[in-house]
Amino acid sequence: MVSTEYERRIAARFAGFDQDGNGTIDREDFSAAAKALLAEFAVPARSDKGQALYSGAEAFWQGMAGIADRDGDQRISRQEFVTGAVKRLRDNPDRFAEIARPFLHAALAVADTDGDGRIDIADTVRVLRVLHVPAGVAEATAAALDADGDGRVGEADVVPAFARYFTVPE
Ligand code: CA
Ligand code: CA
Repeated sequence: MVSTEYERRIAARFAGFDQDGNGTIDREDFSAAAKALLAEFAVPARSDKGQALYSGAEAFWQGMAGIADRDGDQRISRQEFVTGAVKRLRDNPDRFAEIARPFLHAALAVADTDGDGRIDIADTVRVLRVLHVPAGVAEATAAALDADGDGRVGEADVVPAFARYFTVPE
């Protein structure tokens, strides 16, 4: 029997990927996330950072589809997410970090307004809010990502934390 808490967490992760809230995860959810991030930080889509973010989003989608789109209809249904993605990602968190890393790397570059390779907590919250992480949760998550407490977040903090969040330990 599956716990209610576990099911609630799975539902939250699904909603995190289903950016447009239409009940399935597909390529548009990833490109919409990229577009929203670029708009938030006023980075043009045709710039190097913009192009890197769109290719990262596409690679992330392809990786997720390869793991979870069992019927090949280019959509990950809630059922496919629960039976495919969640179990496989939990069994192999490194694989998830690998498929998410190009997107996260590019997202950090977009949010790194001064270009020093790290982003401050307020900008980390902006990224999470654009990705529809609820207020409150976004602030707590950003603070937790800053493991060394220096007020800034780097790729070394983000990728493993993101993988942990989405791989949903039981
Ligand atoms: Ca969707
Ligand atoms: Ca499918």
